[in-house]
Amino acid sequence: MLRPILIHPDPRLKKVMPPVPDLSDDLRVLAADMLETMYDAPGIGLAAPQVGAMHRLIVADCIKEEGATPRPLAMFNPEVLASSDETNVYEEGCLSIPEIYADVTRPAEVEVAWMDADGNPRQEVFTGLWATCVQHEIDHLNGKLFIDYLKPLKRQMITRKMIKLKRERARDAE
Ligand SMILES: [Zn+2]
Repeated sequence: MLRPILIHPDPRLKKVMPPVPDLSDDLRVLAADMLETMYDAPGIGLAAPQVGAMHRLIVADCIKEEGATPRPLAMFNPEVLASSDETNVYEEGCLSIPEIYADVTRPAEVEVAWMDADGNPRQEVFTGLWATCVQHEIDHLNGKLFIDYLKPLKRQMITRKMIKLKRERARDAE
């Protein structure tokens, strides 16, 4: 089932999410819904607070090549164990900040631990776009958005644009 994506600014996008203590069918359904919503958008990552679900859960699939096998990942309680000193710059976007893109510098490699949808502990080193995507999504669980890395003036301009967009969408929905 598709879930509506919250648009910035929204207080739910600024909160620190509590860890998932135990997996449940509801949480597995949430993860499946988030993947469906992410692919539909389309996007390469989505965090639970973006659909108003207050849990430490992210989903991602950074396989973009035409015809390549998809790799849907649902990560409960993801945690960065180690980051490289080497950095990468990617032009990032966010499904909660539509049509805004900006360069963000992050560690080029991160080692991440998480629990998968079967409750198994997993660990992996992510590089390239995957590394950026996973860090962007984990930031969401800590109430941080990619625009928080930009200069305050730029961030305020983007936020004003989003307030206007939300107003227009609300008007269109009437
Ligand atoms: Zn985002």
